[in-house]
Amino acid sequence: MSFLDQLISNTVRADVRAVKSYQVADASGYIKLDAMENPYPLPQHLREELGARLAGVALNRYPPSYASLQAAICAKLGVPAGYDVMLGNGSDELISILAMACAHQEPGKRAVLLAPVPAFVMYARSAQFAGMDFVGVPLQADFSLDMPAMLAAIEQHRPALVFLAYPNNPTGNLFATADIERILAALGDTGIAVVDEAYEPFAQHSFMGRLPEFENLVVMRTVSKLGLAGIRLGYMSAEPALLAQFEKVRPPYNVNVLTQAAAEFALDHIDVLNAQADLLNSARDALALRLAELPGVTVFPSKANFLLIRVADSDDVCAKLLARRVLIKNMSKMHAALANCLRISVSTPEENSLFYDAFKASLV
Ligand code: PMP
Repeated sequence: MSFLDQLISNTVRADVRAVKSYQVADASGYIKLDAMENPYPLPQHLREELGARLAGVALNRYPPSYASLQAAICAKLGVPAGYDVMLGNGSDELISILAMACAHQEPGKRAVLLAPVPAFVMYARSAQFAGMDFVGVPLQADFSLDMPAMLAAIEQHRPALVFLAYPNNPTGNLFATADIERILAALGDTGIAVVDEAYEPFAQHSFMGRLPEFENLVVMRTVSKLGLAGIRLGYMSAEPALLAQFEKVRPPYNVNVLTQAAAEFALDHIDVLNAQADLLNSARDALALRLAELPGVTVFPSKANFLLIRVADSDDVCAKLLARRVLIKNMSKMHAALANCLRISVSTPEENSLFYDAFKASLV
């Protein structure tokens, strides 16, 4: 063994050595439909205004505090009165902060993070790196929650955290409100349910307004899907006393000054972003109808800005799409329930059309 191999094996955790790092595909020259981004940039006149705003931002000092962005989020994004938000470098960071805060260990016993599966991959990853055990409870065939199995798993493992993406990634559906309420009740004061509303701009269903009803509820969101994926900003709200605990784990200065300024600017123009989300919603429904007419293609119902579809041979279709410079996500290997499934971000009418033609040609 070389010195470096020896060094790595003496120092880096075995479970970290065993995994691959998160891969971000190089999308230059491709129609990029793999990451649920909003394809519409800010209109030119707003970009120019934003440029002027950013030019005035001091880069030589640490970010002072994010109080002004916090206040803007609370005022404009439906956070109930008396509740605050904690901000993260994307909601990815918030997921990992929650896991770090809850990863208590007693001798021979680790805290559990539970989620229905298939789920957003960062839940299991953050649990692992924080030293929690991840328990995945399979969804039913129609991707709804398997409530007897969820309640039995909660009873058995008493998870400290339950993550519920609402709508779910990668399946696109909204779980039943009553099911989430039952999970909150079953957890009681032994566990926190995190309702992850990354796709809320498209679903228009939210638990944010219901925070006062549930002291063990955290509602998490991101601005990524709304058209600001590049600035990396997530936020979450919960009972102030609970949020104060997570605040201790948040790294200092985690939301940089450029992100803060850009987000505040964007919130002043939230109507522009919401209008883009409406366009994407209509485009999603139109694309779903067209795809469902193709022989051998199953389209699952989606309340997000992506579609999950099943084809006869996802590897083959994916390779053919790649050759036609279209980038989508092959979900086939992620989970048994996603065999031959592809996930496609909804885009502009032009890109959806290009995708549709390339996809149709890939089926033969
Ligand atoms: N939650 C869900 C359900 C997601 O799908 C994603 C992004 N794919 C995230 C959280 C992370 O979002 P962010 O860009 O804010 O880190």
